[in-house]
Amino acid sequence: MTKPSPISPTIPLDQDGVHHGFLKLPYSRDDSAWGAVMIPITVIQNGDGPTALLTGGNHGDEYEGLVSLFKLAGSLQPSNITGRVIILPAMNYPAFRNASRTSPIDAGNLNRSFPGKPDGTVTQKIADYVFRHLVPMADIVLDIHSGGKTLDFIPFAAAHVLPDKEQEARCVAAMKAFGAPYAMMMLELDAVGMFDTVVEEAGKTFVTTELGGGGSTTAERVAIADRGVRNLLIHAGIMTGDIEPAPSGTTMLDMPDDSCFVASEATGLFEPCVDLGAMVKKGDLIARIYDVERTGTPPREYHAARDGILSCRHFPGLIKTGDCLAVIAKVL
Ligand SMILES: [Zn+2]
Repeated sequence: MTKPSPISPTIPLDQDGVHHGFLKLPYSRDDSAWGAVMIPITVIQNGDGPTALLTGGNHGDEYEGLVSLFKLAGSLQPSNITGRVIILPAMNYPAFRNASRTSPIDAGNLNRSFPGKPDGTVTQKIADYVFRHLVPMADIVLDIHSGGKTLDFIPFAAAHVLPDKEQEARCVAAMKAFGAPYAMMMLELDAVGMFDTVVEEAGKTFVTTELGGGGSTTAERVAIADRGVRNLLIHAGIMTGDIEPAPSGTTMLDMPDDSCFVASEATGLFEPCVDLGAMVKKGDLIARIYDVERTGTPPREYHAARDGILSCRHFPGLIKTGDCLAVIAKVL
């Protein structure tokens, strides 16, 4: 039998009105005996209708979703909706406060920790609570990611190829409704433990995103997140109004196989030779990596393994062997 979660919400999750509070996770430690990790949550409800679960900060350094959802939690009113919106802007709250991808408490990558454990680490306890208590309430789930400190993406909403084609069609329709400049059928290198995987296995309509990165955000990228969240709530029947498409429309992208991913096999100084959003042909030079210890050594050169659009790049100026250097997606 599964143990109960140690996490308790400080607000009701099923009452009309606006409720701001916390998911309280007991965490006894040196600076706080009998203390707790307090994860902010807002629930806005108005009568019967669908429920949307909106999550940001699954990785703590991905700011588009964090900013957009903190803003939404402070502005969305019951009169704007029919149904319920559950907003968890900083799902891995310790990681968010540490400005890092993973938790400083247990090094937990929340997006590799699902379905979680009620008696596991802090990160596993968060995963377990969200999966067992919040996901079942939701008709639609949006998890807003971006590249964090080490990657930068062209802004896209994403769905996955799923065994259940009716569910896949629901997810694709929601992805398109989000209205990002790009929409990606995403291939995951490492799907085990992902929030995406368990939410999709639960049969939910699920949309994820990659809206930027680099460990900060921009006005343009936050605007894409804001518009996408509103569009998704309209698509779900929770808000009324017209879906606002991206000004230049949405370009459909696909990641058909592993040749999309370019991994670094060198450690050194990173020179991007094409920028995000550039169209490349198979064989085109996309990056050079220089020896950091001496001058005069020829750089390693990296070439595109397929035609497509440069949809992701390594962000910092230094790169290591094994780092994701770039992703080249197929334009449909
Ligand atoms: Zn992420």
